[in-house]
Amino acid sequence: MKIQQTICPRCGNPSLPGELCSTCKVGLTRWMECEPRIRSIECPVCEARKEAGIWTDSSRERAVIAREMIYQSIRLHPDVKDPSYDIRIEDVSSNRSVAQCTVTAMLYGLPVEGNCRIEIAWIREQCDRCNRLSGSYYEGVVQVRASGRKPYPDEIEAAARIAMEVEEALIENGERLSFISSIDPSRDGLDVTIGSQHIGQEISNAIVQRLGGRYTTHPKLVGEKAGKQLFRITFSLRLPRYRRGDVIEIRGRYGEVTTTDGQNVRYTELPSGTVKTIKEDEITRLVGNARDAADYLVAYHDAGIIGVLNPADGITIECQAGKWYSVEPGQYIRALRDGDTLILLGM
Ligand SMILES: [Zn+2]
Ligand SMILES: [Zn+2]
Repeated sequence: MKIQQTICPRCGNPSLPGELCSTCKVGLTRWMECEPRIRSIECPVCEARKEAGIWTDSSRERAVIAREMIYQSIRLHPDVKDPSYDIRIEDVSSNRSVAQCTVTAMLYGLPVEGNCRIEIAWIREQCDRCNRLSGSYYEGVVQVRASGRKPYPDEIEAAARIAMEVEEALIENGERLSFISSIDPSRDGLDVTIGSQHIGQEISNAIVQRLGGRYTTHPKLVGEKAGKQLFRITFSLRLPRYRRGDVIEIRGRYGEVTTTDGQNVRYTELPSGTVKTIKEDEITRLVGNARDAADYLVAYHDAGIIGVLNPADGITIECQAGKWYSVEPGQYIRALRDGDTLILLGM
């Protein structure tokens, strides 16, 4: 059987029946198309990039970005096989680069080569986030306070750290406008000014989860934009009055706080060791915190009495001890002073 062969209706060379020959097909196909000029928009402050109208954070280098954009702007016909690219980029000025591109490939069984020149315009534009930051834009404030007292310095420090962790996680998640515009510690606590209401909520939840307390939200109408009401929200957060390790007095008895939810306080009564719960406002006073306790050397432990040595004068102080104290002479025990009384804490 003989392979049926006809001639190309265009040039007269051999071709498959009813088809143009490969040379003619290649000649009639616009197999490579380039955009002559492409734009890259980058924020000069934070290096975020704008693509299709949307800002995203980027840490890629200009050369990598240029190559990627050039690949995207060279379009090849679907019949093109095995393309290989040779791209040479030259920076003409700080805001303009020129790429010479050569593509070699196979088309309809024939090798082809095409060239094009692509100009890249590097445009600097302030991004949405930097724009808001520089314009002091904000959507709310998280106010960290404590009920019935001022927040302790370590709580203020912890709250600030939590806020920054939340911001980092949200920005990493692509929430570019969930930023913190300022963190201001004051004598009353901490004010965290925020770029979105969502970050306010996240920060408040995280602080309450880690430090206890509760928060309420107070929206305030500040204007209108495109028919939508604009609110600023104050997240009013109150750390609990008492916290873990606090030594409290309840009608002449002592206790060490284990947990608190802002209303009820759970504590270990001292020296009995009984676990009790009490309403916050039934507590007579705060004596101190277990962190301020000192180690005392135990001289003897006998019949519910523990004698400890006062390091100041070497005289033994006798303290009431509950059955749960399992300390032996020669060991140390944590104790907190309350005037003349020495309160033995748990182990
Ligand atoms: Zn032909
Ligand atoms: Zn920016």
